[in-house]
Amino acid sequence: MRSHRFRMKLLLAALLPSVLLAVLLSYLWLTWSQRSLENALQQRIEALAGELATGAEFHLFTGDGSALLALTGNTLERHDDLVAVSILDRQGKVLTTSRRSGPIGQGSVTPLWPEKNEANLSRLVKPIIKSPLVLDDPFSSAAAASQASDEASLLGQVALEVSLENLYRERDRQLTLGLAAILLALVAAGALALYLANGVTRPISRIMSVVERIGQGDKSARVKPDPDCVLFQLEIGINRMAEKLAITQEDMQARIDAATDELVVQKELAEEQARINPLTGLHNRRALMERAALEWHRAERHGLRFCLIMLDLDYFKHINDEHGHAAGDRVLIDLARVLRQSIREIDFVARLGGEEFVILMPDTDAEEARLAAERMRMRIAAMRVPVADGAIACTASFGLAEYSGDDADVAALVTRADQALYLAKASGRDQVCVFGVEATVAKA
Ligand code: GH3
Ligand code: MG
Ligand code: MG
Repeated sequence: MRSHRFRMKLLLAALLPSVLLAVLLSYLWLTWSQRSLENALQQRIEALAGELATGAEFHLFTGDGSALLALTGNTLERHDDLVAVSILDRQGKVLTTSRRSGPIGQGSVTPLWPEKNEANLSRLVKPIIKSPLVLDDPFSSAAAASQASDEASLLGQVALEVSLENLYRERDRQLTLGLAAILLALVAAGALALYLANGVTRPISRIMSVVERIGQGDKSARVKPDPDCVLFQLEIGINRMAEKLAITQEDMQARIDAATDELVVQKELAEEQARINPLTGLHNRRALMERAALEWHRAERHGLRFCLIMLDLDYFKHINDEHGHAAGDRVLIDLARVLRQSIREIDFVARLGGEEFVILMPDTDAEEARLAAERMRMRIAAMRVPVADGAIACTASFGLAEYSGDDADVAALVTRADQALYLAKASGRDQVCVFGVEATVAKA
């Protein structure tokens, strides 16, 4: 629809100058031809009147009426467009008249001179002047000239009445011819304008549809360039633009994808960081509880064994008080390293808070876990943290609980391990206590 309107406008723009030019040219041509037809007629009639005046001069002089009648009749017969030919005397009285009756060119000649004048008639009156006598005497020429100019030399007048019908007919013929030529020129101009409009609108609609498709996100949309088309360069340009757009879009998409991947990594990292204790690099309470719940469910679902060990440094407050908080931190860092080195791949160690740590041991029964806790206890006891005035030694107490189907949830298991730890503390510290089993005292 839009392209149709564009095509109509283009057609109008191409056609309008041709129409205006044709109208102007036809007006000029018709005016000129009308004028030249009138001039030609006037010159011919004036020449005819002059010829008649010369012929009538002698007969007027002699008063030979029949000769004058023969002259006018003869003149009328020789010229189709003459309607009446008259000879008048000096005073303007009609001496003889020949008038055509019936249609011009066919009728007979009647010697009459009606004074009425119709609309399509033109009348010309020419004086008949006596010709000067030409003598051999060179001195008589001045006298002859003065005689010719004299009023007395007027013998009479010739009056010609001419029908303008032929003139009008010729004018109409030329008008018809002119109009036909203009019509033909307009048809040719119209066809040319249509051809030009089609030559422009077709490729423009092709380009418009491609631009629309690109706008709708079709990156593969391209114009099929036609080397014969006036808009060939534009078609090539549109394709290049579409190509660049597609590349830019792909580049942008790649950047967005990369940024999204980076964000995902950062997010995972942040989430991981949120589960890590910064001082020791071990998992924190949050991570521990998530993992413990997971293991607890696994053990529950598959009937697996699963142990939770809780340990707490003994008299850590004293270490802080004696060697300073920074030295206490170093003890915590070394303890974390020892714990990491003491567990299996499938085990999970976390700092619960302060100087309390938890180790999850999947697929492990209480005895195996107790042995592992014992190893850890001994390594901690053997650990030495260097300080300015020597080295710090420390011990830890362990509480251990094994998963049992009686626990309502993982918190219940943690509570039982904590109770075993309390027992270990109460029993003298630096020992491993298994929940539900007599406290085992093992001194280094
Ligand atoms: P017990 O044998 O009964 O466990 O005695 P304790 O002194 O270890 O226990 P208590 O709970 O009285 O003291 C724990 C101390 O641990 C208190 C606190 O200052 C210290 N502590 C907790 N977190 C940190 C830490 O991140 N760094 C250091 N240096 N000390 C810490
Ligand atoms: Mg404590
Ligand atoms: Mg303590």
